Amino acid sequence: MATLLDGKKIANEIQSEVAQRVLEHRNDNKRAPHLGIILIGEEGASNTYVNGKINACKAVGFEYTLLQFAVTITESKLLKHIEQLNQDDDIDGFIVQLPLPKHISVDQVTTLINSNKDVDGFTNHNFGSIVSHQPLLLPATPFGVMELLKRYKVTTKGRHCVIVGASRIVGAPMSLMMVEQGQSTVTICQKFTRDLAEYTRRADILIVAVGKPGLVTEDMVKSGAVVIDVGITRIPDSTKKSGFRLSGDVDFKNIAPKCSFITPVPGGVGPLTIASLLLNTLKAYEQQHT
Ligand code: NAD
Repeated sequence: MATLLDGKKIANEIQSEVAQRVLEHRNDNKRAPHLGIILIGEEGASNTYVNGKINACKAVGFEYTLLQFAVTITESKLLKHIEQLNQDDDIDGFIVQLPLPKHISVDQVTTLINSNKDVDGFTNHNFGSIVSHQPLLLPATPFGVMELLKRYKVTTKGRHCVIVGASRIVGAPMSLMMVEQGQSTVTICQKFTRDLAEYTRRADILIVAVGKPGLVTEDMVKSGAVVIDVGITRIPDSTKKSGFRLSGDVDFKNIAPKCSFITPVPGGVGPLTIASLLLNTLKAYEQQHT
């Protein structure tokens, strides 16, 4: 049976470290780090994620400001708010919770965010810094996966990492981080990949970030592999108070017995994404205040 990669536990460790740093800054008579959060619309999952981020801010002693807008907000109005956050010296970093309504371009939004305050690590500047000797604010989810692997002492050097999913916020930056920091041999698959199983079966480390429950089945995973499931999908479930349960992309029940390490969903990568946001916000703050 695999060792469970407990994202909650590692996220708690990171939270304690960040809280300690905040305390040290406060003891030096500095103000607390301050995170801005833009949330658009009433979509349930986004609300849940933002609440998780606010709770994490409270737990480590960050200030936070939530700017919440109706789903009808125009792109130009949103861009004005982003400009204001860029210029506000009291805000160290901010995020724009995705997904955005269809009439707003993610590219326009991302291009406008000041990369020094881009604590989600979405801007081209921060993305590109993955391959520099001085990485800046790293994309939060892949950064969280790297922390998880590091803190569980999972060997990445020289191993074959197969990443399924090539999005701009997860799969693509993940692949660069596994090359640069992980020193792995990397294969990246996406929706046009032919015979996905041919690639996944060769993985020493398999990272899946697609959003399709059950995509990766037991026969697609090599015995002893490390499996990281980034996917999060809400499945309607009337037995749950919330009316849904969360599912990853891999068939956890049948894959866990044959691999060496595996992340659960929930409680795997999700908490690490929030922990990375805290680390990035602290870094953005320290760059301006030390
Ligand atoms: P996305 O839709 O932007 O990208 C999905 C990627 O999967 C694309 O590259 C696409 O080509 C690929 N893909 C689609 N079908 C495929 C198939 N059949 N075989 C192989 N590849 C396929 O999604 P995203 O924003 O990268 O998110 C992916 C998943 O990760 C979602 O479930 C999302 O909720 C989750 N997510 C979790 C966290 C977290 O903190 N745990 C953070 C971000 C995203």
